[in-house]
Amino acid sequence: MKNYIKFLSFVCISILMVSCKTNSVSQETKNEKPNILFIFPDQFRNAAIGLNNQDPVSTPNLDKLGKEGMVISNAISNYPLCSPYRGMLMTGKLPYNNSVLSNSNSRRHKYNNSWQKGDVSISDVLVKNGYDAGYVGKLHLRSPKPMEGKDTVVWDAYQPKELRHGFNFWYAYGTFDQHNTPHYWKNDAKEDEVTYVNEWSAKHEADVIIDYIKNPSPKTRSGKKPFALFWSVNPPHPPYQYVPEKYLENYKDKSLEELLVRENVALDSDASEFAFHSGATRKRTHLAKEHVRNHFAMVTGVDEQIGRVLKTLKDEGLEENTIVIITSDHGEMMGSHGLMSKNVWFEEAINVPFIIKWPKKIKANQKSDLIVSTTDIMPTLLNLVEATEGIPTNLDGRDLSSIITDNKGDKPTSALYYFILEGQPASGHRGLRTHNNTYVITIDKKNVERKFLYDNVNDPYQKVNIIGTDTVIEEKLHQELLKNLKEKKDPWLEKYKNLKE
Ligand code: CA
Repeated sequence: MKNYIKFLSFVCISILMVSCKTNSVSQETKNEKPNILFIFPDQFRNAAIGLNNQDPVSTPNLDKLGKEGMVISNAISNYPLCSPYRGMLMTGKLPYNNSVLSNSNSRRHKYNNSWQKGDVSISDVLVKNGYDAGYVGKLHLRSPKPMEGKDTVVWDAYQPKELRHGFNFWYAYGTFDQHNTPHYWKNDAKEDEVTYVNEWSAKHEADVIIDYIKNPSPKTRSGKKPFALFWSVNPPHPPYQYVPEKYLENYKDKSLEELLVRENVALDSDASEFAFHSGATRKRTHLAKEHVRNHFAMVTGVDEQIGRVLKTLKDEGLEENTIVIITSDHGEMMGSHGLMSKNVWFEEAINVPFIIKWPKKIKANQKSDLIVSTTDIMPTLLNLVEATEGIPTNLDGRDLSSIITDNKGDKPTSALYYFILEGQPASGHRGLRTHNNTYVITIDKKNVERKFLYDNVNDPYQKVNIIGTDTVIEEKLHQELLKNLKEKKDPWLEKYKNLKE
């Protein structure tokens, strides 16, 4: 009997030990999911990262991050404009499938040009898979109601909790460009409870994120879950002059020629060849003369603030298992082709930075020419962190995770380019950006068709439209574009075919 009791005790203790061990293993496994830090400054072209040796900018922290991770040279903002990019980023769907056809503001309220409650988004899926999700900075995904009896266009908008798609830490605003006096709605704040700040927004937001990473009491996140933080820094977006003086040090004594080094800069051009394009910013190149120094100073300032955040990640011991991504919603023309701003098919607008660092799974010091579309980011990131439960099956983007971690899988051969008029999903331009070419068909407001073709290998500054000179390449790209649009069920295709009949 004594021996029997001894045996029973042994069995019970063994079971308990095994069960404890299993628990601790599952807890560890759970905690092993990587954190995500997704940082996307606004209007930051790929050329404006120092390591690319193009713009004469100083970005030591981004350069260091590039050496510690993978630098992807062909990240394309498929629709290089604030809200459409953000809509694609969050939903993994193309503009005509997620309702964000143009920039959100009160004029487009009637078109419902906003992030839709029903579109299961990247943050919804992350939260469903056990993440804390945070959003800091500019959202610009909701068209507010117009002001009664007034014609003023309202841009900024409060994002009600029920439209935040699972983000449980919120320190954000709609769109507001006074970088030295930003404002925010924090977590539970109601629409009239705005936090006003007298500090450069990038610096202030870096402090908020450093606090989120450190997570002291009172806690900003659970601490037991992995976190996914999205940081949308408004600079280097205009107005360019709102930048702390100290960041001008590298640029203030340089001449325009030393700063605007791209061969396609045309400060005296009125870009009349693009007069048909209502998205192109023409006759504003005086801003490049006045502000290229300020814009690049902002780039350096944003780099410094990102550096502070990355240092905190390291100091807190979170560097090894955090995926850091640096990218942007679109670039900045800054006088190239006589244009300013974005919303055109040229490289300065569509080619955005893409640095990804994850010491645990991605080898350091890698360069890749992978073509990454904005819609690919959601499925790629969710598969990278194995947060796969609940990923919608109707996404327009592709999962590129195995290509990034193991160089396995078919690489995309092109990215699509879009420009769409407000409220008209079938309108505007469609194009294709391959490794070698950019091919664009534009339909203007009078239904006039134009075509543009560039040889990006022999003419990297896209100075010559070679349409009509190489019918073989042209036809190949044309067919590939139409095939892609058909696969994506783009309503533009029907309109185009009707025009041609
Ligand atoms: Ca933007």
